[in-house]
Amino acid sequence: MNATSPSSEGRPGFLDASGLRLKIHPADAPGRFLRWRRIVYALLILHYLALPFIKNGQHPAIHLDIEARRFYLAGQAFNAQDVWLLVFLLGAFAFGLVFVTSLAGRVWCGWACPQTVFLEGVYRRIERLIEGPATQRQRLDAGPWSWDRVWRKLLKQSLFVAVSLVLAHWALAFFVPAPQLAGIVLHGPAGHATLFGWAMGLTGLIWFNFAWFREQFCVILCPYGRLQSVLIDRQSVIIGYDGKRGEPRGKALKVLPAGVTPPGDCIDCGRCVRVCPTGIDIRKGLQLECIGCAQCIDACDEVMDKVERPRGLIRYDSLVGFEGGQKRIVRPRLFAYAAMSVLALGAVVLDVSTVRAPFEANLLRAGGTPYALDGGLIRDQFELHLVNKHVEAADFQLSVQAPAGTSVVLPQPEVHLGSLESLRTPILVAVERKTWGGPFDVEVHLRDRATGQERVVTGRFIGPPVVR
Ligand code: SF4
Ligand code: SF4
Repeated sequence: MNATSPSSEGRPGFLDASGLRLKIHPADAPGRFLRWRRIVYALLILHYLALPFIKNGQHPAIHLDIEARRFYLAGQAFNAQDVWLLVFLLGAFAFGLVFVTSLAGRVWCGWACPQTVFLEGVYRRIERLIEGPATQRQRLDAGPWSWDRVWRKLLKQSLFVAVSLVLAHWALAFFVPAPQLAGIVLHGPAGHATLFGWAMGLTGLIWFNFAWFREQFCVILCPYGRLQSVLIDRQSVIIGYDGKRGEPRGKALKVLPAGVTPPGDCIDCGRCVRVCPTGIDIRKGLQLECIGCAQCIDACDEVMDKVERPRGLIRYDSLVGFEGGQKRIVRPRLFAYAAMSVLALGAVVLDVSTVRAPFEANLLRAGGTPYALDGGLIRDQFELHLVNKHVEAADFQLSVQAPAGTSVVLPQPEVHLGSLESLRTPILVAVERKTWGGPFDVEVHLRDRATGQERVVTGRFIGPPVVR
């Protein structure tokens, strides 16, 4: 049996009778969707390759410094205390994906998921270039280990490893800035064993995924595919087969013999199955293995053109549309999903653009006894914790305000901090016992020199009970 044909027992084309995986060689299906997909893939890949070199100020647009727990995203600096923003950001993405799926099925999988983009946009193209079209690849795989097979496989796998190496290093460039990473690579693995280990591990994983695992990632591993059935409804736009028009399938007849029911538009050529990268037969209805790549639309349109029937036997439409019912693209649930996504994103944007202070400051009481009696003095010790949330280094001015007669020791009235660097500095406050009239507030005034923004943090000076 052809690895990409549906079995007569109705099991998917990617499994043999014992349930083991059959290697899929999807045939080429030139057409309008393939042209658009290639443009989208090329743009996404270029964007990915350019990202490590796009800078906001001194930092890359995306720099995740895990070791120091400092994260730079789109010109903003974040530290571990900003994790709540990540929750909102992931929430916005998740609801956005739910919205898109409810509206247009698995359009993400077919058009923008990195798994599809790199598999179809890079690895399969290399495979086609070296081993030829699907039928030739099948013959090659089924044939003996001739010299022709050996050199093609060697060249293909060498290129796969080379591309995987590049992709792995590009992924690492989000964690180690590209110029620094290039220096480390040129210097050799000695002295950077951990990073080298990561690079090799990632390369191996990427190679394994794109050279061998492939569609199994979508069919077996990806949780999003499993959620498809609960995210779409009968009005969601999906890729489907128009059974009303296509059935009963059969050969296209120029002249219909008397008494024979005219067949539907599907000529049962199997072309839609042969081009499918997950090896399924779309004519069996919506299946969770369908990644919405639209290859079968192009393939069937080509067949319809040849048999001079209208295109669109396989097309983007809703289940209601395929049944000839009233289509309703805009539904209440879409508004709910969109609102959740916008709200979550809005919280992030609001925090980053307006609420977010360029520095964090807290005044804490130093550990140990709350106050100390030192001869004629009552002493309290505080600790100021200051974090620079600027993307660049910044200078801060500190001053302390306390009631008259209070003495203050502020070791660092001028502070210079690198981006996301923090400082813990003690502040000593003392009053004479003979003037002690009870607890009072100590105010530390902070001024960010770059923005002029000021903030006051307050601590409570406490001492022994007042004797009247
Ligand atoms: S490509 Fe079109 S005509 Fe051929 S089997 Fe598929 S649905 Fe039928
Ligand atoms: S059924 Fe069609 S859209 Fe779905 S994965 Fe196969 S070729 Fe792509």
